Amino acid sequence: MTDEDLMLEGPPGEFGSGVVGVCDICHQRQAVIVLSKERFKLCVIDFLNKAWIKTDAKPAAPTPPFTSSREYLPTRAVPGGRAPVVVLSPTKQVKRPSVLVVPEVFGLTTQVLEAGVRLAHEGYEVILPDFAKTPGVNLATYAKLRGYRMLFDSVPVSQTRREPYLRVLEDCRLHVRSRPMVDPTHFGVLGISYGGALALAYAAQTPEVETVALAYPFMIRPTGWLQALRASVLAVYGADDNVAAPSLLLLREAARRYGFPFESLVLPGARHHFLNRDSKAYRLPEAELAWTRMMAHMKVSLQPPKVAPTPPHLASRDPLAAPRPTPPASAKPAVPSAAKGPDPVPASPAPGGKPPGTPAAPPSSATPVLPPNLSAGPTPSAPPPPAAGVPGGPRAPRPTGDRATQA
Ligand SMILES: [Zn+2]
Repeated sequence: MTDEDLMLEGPPGEFGSGVVGVCDICHQRQAVIVLSKERFKLCVIDFLNKAWIKTDAKPAAPTPPFTSSREYLPTRAVPGGRAPVVVLSPTKQVKRPSVLVVPEVFGLTTQVLEAGVRLAHEGYEVILPDFAKTPGVNLATYAKLRGYRMLFDSVPVSQTRREPYLRVLEDCRLHVRSRPMVDPTHFGVLGISYGGALALAYAAQTPEVETVALAYPFMIRPTGWLQALRASVLAVYGADDNVAAPSLLLLREAARRYGFPFESLVLPGARHHFLNRDSKAYRLPEAELAWTRMMAHMKVSLQPPKVAPTPPHLASRDPLAAPRPTPPASAKPAVPSAAKGPDPVPASPAPGGKPPGTPAAPPSSATPVLPPNLSAGPTPSAPPPPAAGVPGGPRAPRPTGDRATQA
């Protein structure tokens, strides 16, 4: 059975399943999604644009929340110099962060598309590389990744033949950040299964990645690659996932060793691909829980609450704020009276203490939490890594940890 055949698994023509066939809209033979209830077989683009093509839509129908388009990314990473991507763009005219969705082994399957659709609904510009249709980076290459994963419980990323993936991902980031409505200062990555492994590898070498949400990702090797990772990572697994379970243990260990922020959500009874609607493993309640958690994780870093002036009930916690009715008004008169000398930047770490010359109130003077882009920075609690470039360093207490993971 080839990887492509797996797309045909399950009852043929079932709603939401992916098959190889002719798209009813663009008439190209390719992997398409079946919408049997509506008697449609649609390709990725037409599936995503379904809101536009429904025949009963009236001229004054509400604007769909996002649009989608197939684009060709200029890239020097693959033969031919271009790679197909799908871009989802919210229609609301506001600046928005962007998210790169790294697909799993079978390309743009329903769970990968669903990730994109959910992110677009949440207001992100989304880019999905279509690896399954990219020259030089295809299913055969992915199958080799699988071979390594089955041998070593993890996916190798440092070999030259994996580099095209990472270069395409970087070109995706550069492409999406240049789009007019995209806020280039906020960028995250979501990866599924093998895409999770590639997302981890990519995030570790890309400081612009603020946050990473992963669905049953495979671990990468060498684990020392993750030493540079600073983004906060959420990984969702099913408790009955017998292919990716070893990766969760390895990932936890790596987070502890290298000090990147890591959270995991393990859902009882769920298996690998439990997010995929056309998989036998699909479980709706667990999938909804996982999606919700992944979206929330993205939001913390990429859509932080706007910084507002300190409300009165919080300002009253500050003893210095009590005699001041309005911070902006008192700020300027306070400068000459409180000036003890040339000390514009107080080095005192006193909680709640504000220099009088800064009228803008911090978001919350009571919490020592840094802004997300700073909190993703150096983590002082991390133990110093044993030796750079030597994964699983000499002081690792259990170098044979891989063997404890046979499930
Ligand atoms: Zn089509």
